[in-house]
Parts: sequence; C-alpha cells; structure tokens
Amino acid sequence: MTQSIPPFHQKNLFKIPHLADLNIDDNSPFPLKVPDDFMQQMDVSDPNDPLLKQILPLKIENQIAMGFSTDPVQDLDFTPSPSLIHKYHGRVLLIASPKCDIHCRYCFRRHFPYATHSNTRHWQKALEYIQQDHSIHEVILSGGDPMSLSEHSLVRLIQKIEAIPHIQTLRIHSRTPIVAPSQAPTTELIAWAKSSRLNKVLVVHCNHANELSTQTATLFSLYKAAGFHLLNQSVLLKGINDQVNLLETLSHALFKQGVLPYYLNQLDRVQGAMHFEVDHTTAVQIHTKLRKKLPGYLLPQLVQDIQGKPYKTPLRSF
Ligand SMILES: *Cc1c(COP(=O)(O)O)cnc(C)c1O
Ligand code: SF4
Repeated sequence: MTQSIPPFHQKNLFKIPHLADLNIDDNSPFPLKVPDDFMQQMDVSDPNDPLLKQILPLKIENQIAMGFSTDPVQDLDFTPSPSLIHKYHGRVLLIASPKCDIHCRYCFRRHFPYATHSNTRHWQKALEYIQQDHSIHEVILSGGDPMSLSEHSLVRLIQKIEAIPHIQTLRIHSRTPIVAPSQAPTTELIAWAKSSRLNKVLVVHCNHANELSTQTATLFSLYKAAGFHLLNQSVLLKGINDQVNLLETLSHALFKQGVLPYYLNQLDRVQGAMHFEVDHTTAVQIHTKLRKKLPGYLLPQLVQDIQGKPYKTPLRSF
C-alpha cells in the first residue's frame, strides 16, 4: 500500500545550507517529491550526491532551451484510445497511473497532460482496442508509475489483460521497486503471478548503484520467485552516471540482485532537463568503453526515442 510521505524530510532538504547555494526552486510546477526509502540512500551532506541531484528542483530548469519541448517523444500522436500508446509492432503501452512516488527532474513526462490520460475510466476502451487488434501480444503498463496504483486496482487491471487470449506477455515499467521498495505491491501481485499463464516482465528504473539496497534485493527475489523476468533501464545523466566506472558498477550491482541491464536511454529532450544532457558523441564514447568492461549480457543497449521510429533507436557514432 502506498503511504503518504511525511513532509519532514522534504522540507528539511531545503533548509540544508549548502543546498541553498544550488539555487533551489521551491516553487516548481513539478514539485519536490521523494520517498523515504530513496532519501535513506542519499548523502544529503554532499551537494553532488547522485541521488540528491535526481530529485532536487533547481531554478535552472526554468530556462528555455532550443530543441527541448514539452512532448519530446510525440506520444500524443499515437494514442488510438486515451491512455493507450500504440507506436511499436506487437506491443502497446497503457498509462496505468498518472502518479509517481518520486519526481525525477529529467522526466520526459513532466509536462504530460495526465488529466486527460491515464484515467481508470479509459481502461475499458483501451482493453477493447487491445481485444480487437490480434497483432498485439504484449501489454506494457507504464505511467507515471503503475505501481503507484493500489495493489488491488493494479491486479484487477492485469487480470483483465490476461483474459484477452492473444496477449502473451505482461510487462510492468516501474521505478517504485527502486525508490520505494517498502511500498511496492507484493502479496496480491505475487499470488497472481505465480498462477498466471502470461510471460511476466518487470522493468525497473535504476540510474546509480547507490539506489540499490538490501530492501531492493529482498523485493527482487520475491518477484523472481513468482516468475518475473527482471530488467533495468537507466537514463544517461550528466553529473549523475555519465562515467564508465559508475555504469560498470551499476551493471554488476544489478546482476547481483538478479536484474539484467536492458536499456541505457539517451535523455529525452524535455524542457527543464537540458543540464542533464550528455551529448551524442560523449554518450557513444562512454558506451564503447563500457562494452570493453562488461560481458555482453551486462551491457545495456544505448538507445534514444526518436520521433517516428518504430523502435528505440541505437545510438551510433556519426
Ligand atoms: C519504449 C516503448 C515501448 C517498449 O519498447 P521495447 O523496445 O519493447 O522495450 C513500447 N511502446 C512505447 C510507446 C514506448 O515508448
Ligand atoms: S519515476 Fe519515471 S515517470 Fe515517474 S518521474 Fe521518475 S522518470 Fe518520470
């Protein structure tokens, strides 16, 4: 069950003197939001802490930058039914919840019009669309964060998807197991998974090894025992994980907890996130060096969501 986060920690963050120097924006329309579990993994005495940097709203986000927009991946052009995105062959993405437990500053959905999407009223229509298109074999629950739904609502939605005969795979994209493992759904979801006919995939979102803990390890072992394949996607973020040794450590740390690296995403060019962008050439250089350090199965694919492409596009040298 989702618990509300005590305001205690969040307010305190703004009072830490050395953070005030960073030009905090305590009035952001995408306000500070961080779960206790994630707070505990941070070192707030270090203004360069890689977890702190992911959540602290800064005034620099208000600068308008060329090429950065409010809908960088043009999802709104591919919505056959509200809350449903059908861009890629064989799979659809259902925005199952508008909410997240955390507000990541670089989030490409920070301007997404959630009020008109991801409403439970839309599920029935979306399910009808999926039912009618037999080329769809995989449903991806995304958001926001689908694990911010009540566990009961989440499992009921999943059961409706499972009832569609041509669906073979249920995939959940969620950052909750990383940032708020104590709030992640377990009982009902695991009971469902153990008896389900579907292939089950959980793609978590971890950017830095410091985000992993004994709590995440325990949670992953539960999901794994219930039949979930565990994958991770990260976003390449300047000043946070844009170093070969950090990414190498992350891959090994994930594997130790039973999770395989899947994608390393080049930042989507969303307004407010330009200070996190690693340029194309540097990104490819980092990835090439990483390839020399890791076995193939621990190397995430460096990809970008390019408008109009029917897949996540690998980044290559020019
Ligand atoms: C990323 C994404 C997917 C999933 O892509 P995979 O390459 O299968 O992981 C599906 N639909 C949309 C709209 C996406 O953005
Ligand atoms: S958890 Fe994902 S969707 Fe939510 S704010 Fe972070 S990056 Fe965005």
